Amino acid sequence: MKWEENVRKVVPYTPGEQPHKAGIIKLNTNENPYAPAPGVARALAGLDAEQMRLYPAFPEETDLAKALADHYQIGTDQIFIGVGSDDVLSMAFMTFFQSDRPVFFPDITYSFYDVWADVYRIPYETKALDADFQIRPEDYRQPNGGVVFPNPNAPTGVLMPLESVEEIVRNNRDVVVIVDEAYIDFGGTSALPLIETYDNLLVVQTFSKSRSMAGMRIGFCMGQPKLIRYLNDVKYSVNSYTMNTAALALGVEAVRDKVYFGECCEKIRKTRAKAEEELAKRGFVFPKSCANFIFASHKSVPAREIFEKLKENDIYVRWWNKERIDNFLRITIGTDEQMEALYQALDRILKP
Ligand SMILES: *Cc1c(COP(=O)(O)O)cnc(C)c1O
Repeated sequence: MKWEENVRKVVPYTPGEQPHKAGIIKLNTNENPYAPAPGVARALAGLDAEQMRLYPAFPEETDLAKALADHYQIGTDQIFIGVGSDDVLSMAFMTFFQSDRPVFFPDITYSFYDVWADVYRIPYETKALDADFQIRPEDYRQPNGGVVFPNPNAPTGVLMPLESVEEIVRNNRDVVVIVDEAYIDFGGTSALPLIETYDNLLVVQTFSKSRSMAGMRIGFCMGQPKLIRYLNDVKYSVNSYTMNTAALALGVEAVRDKVYFGECCEKIRKTRAKAEEELAKRGFVFPKSCANFIFASHKSVPAREIFEKLKENDIYVRWWNKERIDNFLRITIGTDEQMEALYQALDRILKP
């Protein structure tokens, strides 16, 4: 079959399972256990179907861009909005990683990076995290075609101090450095203020985790206007209307309700602190997490076994059959009730 020689062959990213069974406790894809801000439901009820006749507005001209600009105290020309941060990251890979030199990212990280690199034929090189799962900034000093890493890192939850982020950005002024801050609202310091100083820094965030809107698919990134213009040039060369009218309208409410947002993040941090105690009590070890999940390994029972037994108990967590991390479980922080059910299931599973 000759045509198959001309197919762009890729091994796709495997997202966490989305079980359709009722009564599942879903701690496997880092979704927020709390509903979006109440204004989102009100705006949803007020959506006008007649409006759907029209193509959506350009994201940069919407109230969503204005609300984000207002919230982060930057200009609307410093924001790019996409269909979840996966879309934003994918566009950024396509736009900024055009060098023959390899793009650098950690060996243990968001497992979409190597997939985008493969699909866009971008050469890349991974840099090993140290034994404590920390990114070593000095590894990012050799010539490269760009740098990307999450902060906090996924799936470890480990936060890199802002000084180290800046060190990487400063040592790579000739390439674009993308900091993926999908989990920054759960306890890290954003690199956003650095965009004023560094024209090569792109900070990516999402509504999927801290703003409870994974299903609406809204992500965005921030950088100097020139970076954003280049991104828009590529995006408008692929698909002009990525953001639908509903997402653009509903996202605004999630940004404006700062009180609700703060409360949700605080609840998750509290539940995470409790989870650290409860998991430690049951023989788990884990690096300190600044995200809405804990990356834990049990002292005696293999992760795979716990993963499978939890699943039999209708509790889904994430496990990767991958070198260095195959004895770890990534457990999303749910509500206190969900976590209580997890501890009880663990007590049954781990009983000698
Ligand atoms: C969840 C996640 C994303 C993407 O989420 P979207 O739903 O596409 O916004 C990006 N990066 C990391 C590290 C993530 O964990």
